[in-house]
Amino acid sequence: MKQERKRILVTGGAGFIGSHLCSRLLKEGNEVICVDNFFTGSKRNIVPLLSNPYFEMLRHDICFPLYVEVDEIYNLACPASPVHYQHDPIQTTKISVHGAINLLGLAKRLQAPILQASTSEIYGDPQVHPQREDYWGHVNPIGPRSCYDEGKRCAETLFFDYHRQLNLKIKVVRIFNTFGPNMHPNDGRVVSNFIVQALQGDDLTIYGDGTQTRSFCYVDDMVEGLIRMMNSEDSLTGPVNLGNPHENSILEIAEKIIQLTGSSSKIVQKPLPQDDPLRRRPDITFAMKELDWQPKVNFEEGLKRTIKYFKELLR
Ligand code: NAD
Ligand code: UDP
Repeated sequence: MKQERKRILVTGGAGFIGSHLCSRLLKEGNEVICVDNFFTGSKRNIVPLLSNPYFEMLRHDICFPLYVEVDEIYNLACPASPVHYQHDPIQTTKISVHGAINLLGLAKRLQAPILQASTSEIYGDPQVHPQREDYWGHVNPIGPRSCYDEGKRCAETLFFDYHRQLNLKIKVVRIFNTFGPNMHPNDGRVVSNFIVQALQGDDLTIYGDGTQTRSFCYVDDMVEGLIRMMNSEDSLTGPVNLGNPHENSILEIAEKIIQLTGSSSKIVQKPLPQDDPLRRRPDITFAMKELDWQPKVNFEEGLKRTIKYFKELLR
């Protein structure tokens, strides 16, 4: 039986993950309203979608109320790179908290399911490894990363209170490091930094000694997980970890990118930023069981696709 066309709101839809999500939702025959204030997002990311009559772009800041009529809401609007979210930390907390309140209010009026793009930063600099959803985290509440970490934690609180108090259909997803095409070249995150540096023949800047770890998920896998979560049973609220459990040190990532780009760039060390988590890897047992989801694109293949994207962009 053919499914009815849904009208879906994606906040942060001109950003890295949001643009892939909009594209996929359109391909599945839905109508998409993309809301973005272009703080870190880019028109370039959505240019290929603009000719689709079922795609609509609204320039809007989610810190202010929004009145639209939709069937589902994905809330991705928020700067995600440490450089960008620390640029105006007060605004970062407002985006997470006021943004959540505005969108939860919208979801309540519409009785629509709403998915929150939460983050592995909820776990802070974790003392439990790998991280499972029942770990409460180890977060500095007053440091330079707190605007993001605590903002996202407060957003989770709001989501669960709207669920308990008002029976709203919520879906909370904790996204671990994700990479792929459409990342901003000056985003400041490690994969985009290293690829751009390698392609331009600049030194690759490792912060600290490079022994800290992250686990990188390719964006197509992430989008698949987000959609599966939205389409899951109403009773499945999460929080659910989405990410690739394959863990690498930052030094290994730098070496791999130099190898794949064939670059002659050198690796240099820079000071480690305060509160930079020492290690991070998702336990995705819950997502595997409840969503029948796990990443399919391995790190090297994802890097090759991302390098190709940046090569074309820089040209
Ligand atoms: P991104 O910076 O590329 O995208 C965020 C988008 O939100 C941008 O288009 C930006 O312009 C928009 N935005 C920011 N503030 C806004 C506001 N006030 N009103 C409207 N739009 C606004 O980041 P991303 O990597 O695509 O991340 C998307 C979401 O996923 C974010 O909520 C982020 O916290 C979460 N997340 C991402 C990762 C990752 O590794 N990429 C990891 C954990 C969580
Ligand atoms: N990092 C690095 N060099 C860079 C950018 C980042 O060594 O040019 C490190 C950073 O200190 C952190 C890891 O790479 O340990 C991941 O950083 P990113 O900003 O991508 O995301 P995070 O997981 O810290 O939010």
